[in-house]
Amino acid sequence: MLARPVSRGRIIMGRLSKGADLLASLTQLCLNENVQLGVVRAIGAVTRARVGYYHQDRRTYSYLEFDGPHEIINLEGNISLKDGQPFVHAHIALMAEDGRMVGGHLAEGTEIFACEYVITELLPERNRTFERFFDEATGLYLWPLIKD
Ligand code: ZN
Repeated sequence: MLARPVSRGRIIMGRLSKGADLLASLTQLCLNENVQLGVVRAIGAVTRARVGYYHQDRRTYSYLEFDGPHEIINLEGNISLKDGQPFVHAHIALMAEDGRMVGGHLAEGTEIFACEYVITELLPERNRTFERFFDEATGLYLWPLIKD
């Protein structure tokens, strides 16, 4: 496992632009504000969505697209570094007009109608950054485990 204490940094709150890509906007925000570690939450609505599902056996994502307006019931994610740049890993729960819920791993291709976010910046102790590396056991880019 990996367990490292972190402390709270800034809290950044705001709204994303209509028509922009949700994941790309969150990533750009982290670049602009130099957030290297943190958590992100958001609610709002999208005009269309694209989410991933990771096939654990095949070690590949497949993507689902949901056309048309959906409410963002919840977006929850974390921010850390990948290749030295801020990387947003977020999952999204969406509601369609008939009340049905869909969701998944947020992917590019999700278009914002309205989005209100809160980012809580976290500061690692002794500047030990959280960086994603390729993990052989899962095929994903994850934070490294510490051998115990
Ligand atoms: Zn994911």
